[in-house]
Amino acid sequence: MKVVIIGASFAGVSAALAIRKKHPKAEIQLIDKQRTIGYLPGGINLYFNEMIDPIETAQFISEQELVNNEISLLLNAKVVSMDSKQHIIKYEKDGSDFFMSFDKLILATGSSQWSQQIIGSDSEKVLKYKFLPGVRQAIEQLENSDKVALIGGGQIGGEAADTLLKKGKEVHLFERMDYLLFKYFDEEMIQPVQAEMSARGVVFHFDETVEKVIDIDEGLLIKTKKSELFCDSAIFAMNVRPDLRYLDEHIKRHTDQTIFVNDYLQTSQADIFAIGDCIQVPYSLSEESFYIPLVNNAVRTGLVVAQNLIELTTPFVGSIRTIGTKLVDHYVASTGLTEAEGAFYEQSISIAHVQQKSSLFSGSETIFGKIIFEKESHKLLGAQLVSKADILEKINTLALGIQMGQTLETFYQKDFLYHPYYSNVIDITNQLGFEGLWSETDEN
Ligand code: FAD
Repeated sequence: MKVVIIGASFAGVSAALAIRKKHPKAEIQLIDKQRTIGYLPGGINLYFNEMIDPIETAQFISEQELVNNEISLLLNAKVVSMDSKQHIIKYEKDGSDFFMSFDKLILATGSSQWSQQIIGSDSEKVLKYKFLPGVRQAIEQLENSDKVALIGGGQIGGEAADTLLKKGKEVHLFERMDYLLFKYFDEEMIQPVQAEMSARGVVFHFDETVEKVIDIDEGLLIKTKKSELFCDSAIFAMNVRPDLRYLDEHIKRHTDQTIFVNDYLQTSQADIFAIGDCIQVPYSLSEESFYIPLVNNAVRTGLVVAQNLIELTTPFVGSIRTIGTKLVDHYVASTGLTEAEGAFYEQSISIAHVQQKSSLFSGSETIFGKIIFEKESHKLLGAQLVSKADILEKINTLALGIQMGQTLETFYQKDFLYHPYYSNVIDITNQLGFEGLWSETDEN
């Protein structure tokens, strides 16, 4: 069996390694248009925060590891078209065209940072650093910029703001919604982080959609309906999107242009599968699917597709959008539904807030927690944590409870470790379940 995988990043590499385990004799060919593999998109923050140097070390896998697994790698090769019925792809390398046949094809071409909505956002001064060539350019340009505009207040924009503050830059953040990280947090949870960013100098432009970027000799002019700002450079921190011009008409797509797949990650062509940032994933809390470009979805779809190549055995369980990061000395983490999104949820929801010390003795920072659950059934739907203590891993426990469909009643009883120095007497995650129950009583 010859398996060709287009895209050698998180999704493609995880699929290749899993297929090697499941099908020891398969011929596996990874193809990528980049010249290197395995770059970590958040690497620029690690570099500027002096956690890594040089930037090239922000890598999750090496070519040698693929060789060790007998996976062939073709780099600097861009797939430009395909004939899905004939099982052939066409790619360009060094100015020439080549063809390659396959028995099974996996589309793992991910996404990149581009927008048709913002006129002028393709300017070189609007920095896009998902891949290594872009990050090299961004490092050089940011070193020489004093005033930087961030277009987008999600995780990428938040992390960039944090990094640039430490570098002493003047930071302006544009966001069309009225607070930071709105997809993941309710406003009251993220407010302390936002206040701290303001105190350290970030100028927020909330409720402002960037419409145009004008490249002028000395820098950039950022235009919204409400204002204009001159800056030295800008960072494209909006949602990423797939570029799938190489597909033929037999591969069905959604209206947002992502590739349509069934529960088994199979496209509308039986021997062709798609994974990672070029597909929508099922939302584990409803019947819908959504576009949520995250490494964890890319890696998990890569693992699952390996099971389904010959026989469709393993449906992909979907996503509840679990994230975590550190911004201005606050660890922030979120999973599942927010309270704001609850307005669109099919059942009535309830919420509870909890404040608790992270541990009794080893640095007693306060953890602020919030849980969102179905009012009637008490099924867990979402959770948010914010603290100066490192609570990032705890969100994974909450995510598991939500994915397993647990209720407050089972979740508050779950096992947890207790240690007199390192933990509190009840884990914040259990406490959230417990407070959820009592919040109902408090209301009555
Ligand atoms: P990609 O990583 O996009 O890789 C696709 C690969 O396909 C690329 O190597 C590309 O060169 C190749 N390719 C594309 N088209 C072709 C073609 N026609 N021919 C050949 N090769 C092709 N997510 C998180 O969960 N946590 C984070 O902290 C995080 N930080 C991020 C920071 C930034 C700045 C950005 C932009 C994104 C971040 N993300 C983060 C999102 C994350 O990067 C993506 O979800 C992830 O990279 C998706 O992996 P993928 O393998 O599906 O696709």
